[in-house]
Amino acid sequence: MSLGMSLGNIILRVDGVVKRFGGITAVNKVSFDVEGGRILGLIGPNGAGKTTLFNCITGVYRPEEGKIIFQGKDITGLQPHVVAKKGIARTWQKVRPFKNMSVLDAVVVGALLRTNSVVQAKKRAVEALKLVGFPEEKYEMLGKDITLMEHKMVDLARAISTEPKLLLLDEVAAGLRPHEMESLANILRKVNKEKGLTMIVVEHVMRFVMNLSERIIVMHEGRKIAEGAPKEVANDPDVIEAYLGTKPL
Ligand code: ATP
Repeated sequence: MSLGMSLGNIILRVDGVVKRFGGITAVNKVSFDVEGGRILGLIGPNGAGKTTLFNCITGVYRPEEGKIIFQGKDITGLQPHVVAKKGIARTWQKVRPFKNMSVLDAVVVGALLRTNSVVQAKKRAVEALKLVGFPEEKYEMLGKDITLMEHKMVDLARAISTEPKLLLLDEVAAGLRPHEMESLANILRKVNKEKGLTMIVVEHVMRFVMNLSERIIVMHEGRKIAEGAPKEVANDPDVIEAYLGTKPL
């Protein structure tokens, strides 16, 4: 359904979204806009509702209240594969190893969202692997034989090969060593710049998300408690209290 809404350069509007599990309100009237081509960070302590919000955006959960507007159209409650087809891709918090599949085939699976031609899908998969800088001599390696960092690159390439307009990254830095995090941040910057791909980055590793994002949203106990430039939110007393459990002196 088109709302005929003119949102300017707003690619995603989350409007008053509520998601409950029994007595728990995991996401509580959260609203924000994401501008096209930007990288937005989404942070908050454990259980803040970040993953649940991602699941509402990608159609895993249907919110009880509120709307998700993507490129001017209401996508609230659509099935995940329909949302993917509309141009929202995600990577997963827990790497799902594709043990006996080759790197290339794992990415081809993503590319098949847009084409029935395996030849075309392979072409797109190779482009995506090149974009993230995955070494060509390892395209035929099996999932069980590659490193965690390589898995993250493959998962990113798989998401890119679906040709999204918006990419949701769920704790992509988890488990990586500092120098790997730095290369991953550089890869994401490159993808953002070269593809103009908008990203929302859910992250616990503060340095990673603060360096990468132009704007940060902070959630706590289901609510959005702050929004602004990384420096602004890092100095916000409500944010400090949410993380430390006590007000700063
Ligand atoms: P983390 O940073 O630890 O991944 P998060 O910010 O992503 O946390 P969520 O995983 O979205 O937070 O969880 C928000 C709240 O909703 C938590 O209280 C959690 O226990 C609850 N919750 C999440 N998923 C479910 C579910 N499927 N059933 C019941 N409760 C859930």
